[in-house]
Amino acid sequence: MKLHEYQAKQLLRNYQLPVPAGIKIDSPNEVLGALEHLNITRGVVKAQAYTGGRGKAGGIKLFNSLQEAQELTKSILNMTLVTKQTGPQGVPVDSILIEEASNITHEYYLAILVDRVDSAPVLIISPEGGMDIEDVAEKSPEKIMKIVLSYGKPISDGQKAQAAAFLSLEKQEKELGDILQGLYDVFCAYDAMLLEINPLISTSDNGLFILDCKFDIDDNAVYRQIKSGGDQYAEKNKAEIDAKKWGMSYIALEGEIGCMVNGAGLAMATMDSIKYFGKEPANFLDVGGSANEEAVAKAFEIISSDKAVKCIFINVFGGIMKCDTIALGIVAAVKKVGLNVPLVVRLEGTNVELGKKIIDESGLDIVSASDLADGAEKAVSLLQKK
Ligand code: GDP
Ligand code: MN
Repeated sequence: MKLHEYQAKQLLRNYQLPVPAGIKIDSPNEVLGALEHLNITRGVVKAQAYTGGRGKAGGIKLFNSLQEAQELTKSILNMTLVTKQTGPQGVPVDSILIEEASNITHEYYLAILVDRVDSAPVLIISPEGGMDIEDVAEKSPEKIMKIVLSYGKPISDGQKAQAAAFLSLEKQEKELGDILQGLYDVFCAYDAMLLEINPLISTSDNGLFILDCKFDIDDNAVYRQIKSGGDQYAEKNKAEIDAKKWGMSYIALEGEIGCMVNGAGLAMATMDSIKYFGKEPANFLDVGGSANEEAVAKAFEIISSDKAVKCIFINVFGGIMKCDTIALGIVAAVKKVGLNVPLVVRLEGTNVELGKKIIDESGLDIVSASDLADGAEKAVSLLQKK
């Protein structure tokens, strides 16, 4: 689970790490308040989007006045960032981070990640920060150093000195050492897969600051982070996290048809069928093989909460989970949440007749489908009627 830069930086601040002052905003109307709060007139506007290379794509700009900050905020919020990582379709900008400007004298690269070869967390450092580390690795591999860490042990003084020497930061060995240890503490506490600081900067008054941060939490540990309150940093992934709490997987997509399925294979077939009839899925929620009535109801609630959903297609195969259980869950959910968009249900498998009967006798406005293609076609045509 990726965090946005502003979320990651808040975590780092909680660990007393040196991060420039900044405020996340969602509209140009909030610029004035942010600048007043930060007490600045110059600074940086940074696109919050799930990609690196935002600077090159035009998502990071310096401003020298309130008006400029407002104009940049407006234009960046409307951008789709196309970077090497995103491919041609790009990613939307979710919000803006306004930060005080930093006086950069040098940019360094730092990262902590899990190295599968060493079966250990490793620290990667380079004096060539601010650019793609892949490019540095290719053109001048001697400018990258890898230091193998051990779980449960602090970074040793020797390793800190080694890092300071490699980055020619001997004079700031203490500050650098504290930053490295702080980052490693965050990395372990949040079950991170990757914590990348590119760049760490030095300033004209010999300060060290974390200017950018990429933070990726291991998906397998998200449940643990949720228990410890980590989910407050992932508003965007609320549906995904809600689903995980119930042992289900939710994937957000770009289209308008919300899909509830069980099993990854059926999810693929359902999406293919929707595309075949000319529309796109808005998401799919895999309820898994052994969901109960309550989980099905929850799944329906999660799908309905996605504003992009203009039609819902439930395509479930009753194997371990029986069709009547699924039907009861659907009926309960519709009664609770209400039905604001057309709903198509296709059930197949154990107790299918009983399942269909429950739906038909519910008196709810639910469209039954006889098979996968019929269901997809009905969902697409109901969408077009709207
Ligand atoms: P990325 O392109 O997504 O990796 O975003 P970064 O946050 O790393 O920003 C890209 C580049 O913009 C940095 O390497 C800096 O050179 C520059 N930059 C970012 N913030 C500031 C700032 O406060 N002051 C100045 N002068 N440059 C900045
Ligand atoms: Mn960066």
